[in-house]
Amino acid sequence: MTTPLRIWHPFTNALLDPAPLHVASAEGVYLHLTDGRRILDAISSWWVNLHGHANPRISSAVAEQSRKLEQVILAGFTHDPAEELAARLRKWAPAQLTHMFLSDDGSTAVEVALKLAVQHFQNLERPEKHEIVALADGYHGDTAGAMSVSDSSPFTAPFESMRYPVHRVHSAYCYRCPVGLKRETCHIECVQKLQDLLAERGHKIAAVIVEPLLQGVGGMIVHPVEFLQKIRALCTRHDVLLIADEVLTGFGRTGKMFACDLANVVPDLMCLSKGITGGFLTMGATLCTDRVESAFRSENRMHTFHHGHSYTGNALACAAANASLQIFEDEPVFDRIAAISRVNADRLADLRGMRQVGDTRQVGTIGALELRADDPGYLSALRPKLYDFFLRRGVLLRPLGNVIYVIPPYVITREELHHVYDIIVEAIEALL
Ligand code: PLP
Repeated sequence: MTTPLRIWHPFTNALLDPAPLHVASAEGVYLHLTDGRRILDAISSWWVNLHGHANPRISSAVAEQSRKLEQVILAGFTHDPAEELAARLRKWAPAQLTHMFLSDDGSTAVEVALKLAVQHFQNLERPEKHEIVALADGYHGDTAGAMSVSDSSPFTAPFESMRYPVHRVHSAYCYRCPVGLKRETCHIECVQKLQDLLAERGHKIAAVIVEPLLQGVGGMIVHPVEFLQKIRALCTRHDVLLIADEVLTGFGRTGKMFACDLANVVPDLMCLSKGITGGFLTMGATLCTDRVESAFRSENRMHTFHHGHSYTGNALACAAANASLQIFEDEPVFDRIAAISRVNADRLADLRGMRQVGDTRQVGTIGALELRADDPGYLSALRPKLYDFFLRRGVLLRPLGNVIYVIPPYVITREELHHVYDIIVEAIEALL
């Protein structure tokens, strides 16, 4: 008898975690399991889905594209869906971002941004300017470079030897303020560490990478807009590139198309993925300014950006992205986003009064609550209990340790979102 080839599921310990649930189909906010159960996907399947599962408009666009051109090498070639994507994103992205480099997912969008930043200064004959600064509690992906700029965590612990050195500065984690202040009276003193670092070593630093306004995996940590604005000003002052990793926050999650828009900040490089295709297909995009790109336009071949992935600019993924952006243009997507934001605000205000809840946080469609726990952090013992409870009640929520959060597809109804919050309240009452 042949040994079966088993799927090794991500973030899953075959001994400790329940067997994976088998999904037969999905529609809107619901996953339909092969055993007949229905699960409400309150986290947009790892934050990718925007307009509902199996959205018919995106699905048709992908099917139609597959009959014309599925994939072609993007080095030396281009195609309509990629050109259309550039034109469509032009309408939403800050005007100063003039070039788009396509890749495969969030991690590769980040790798591209980091490499562009470093090679930019290399090409300008300033090779000493190659160091990178990142935030405490940051997360930027699981490939080696993205892992290096992510903060140390259970995800990175086995791989310390593979991570390159990065300067780590404070995040604006107000609930656990790194400089011991209160938001009501502070002046964003947490940015001082970055200020001192750039004053001392700015001439050696290529880029600062941040998740703008919201650190997702780190615990749904919401920053004051002033924090991002101050980082932008410091980067400008010290001729350091600002990389905004909008992989999670992009495409409306925070209430605006991009989190940077909420703070009126324009980064030098912007990483996009997740929602870019509406959650249909994998794709990464790194946008940059003309200034960044111009260092690569050169008579010297060595100044070329020698980076590319086989499926870069996949025509089906571009078609999905174009259909998703078309939905932004002709459906009331921002009304849906506003409705979700209102329910989040109302329900989090009530949850704040529960003795088990230490903090509540929200930016737009993303609502989170940090439970009081003896063992806060990703490996909190609360996490598996909460996850199981939610699934038994028919809701997919994957707490980050003691932090429960919702990031629903935009087509969730008010009633469905209230139901999700009702289950969260039930779980807190039952388990804590
Ligand atoms: N950047 C941020 C802010 C993310 O939240 C993630 C994934 O959660 C990534 C990068 C990595 O994206 P991917 O999982 O598509 O590689």
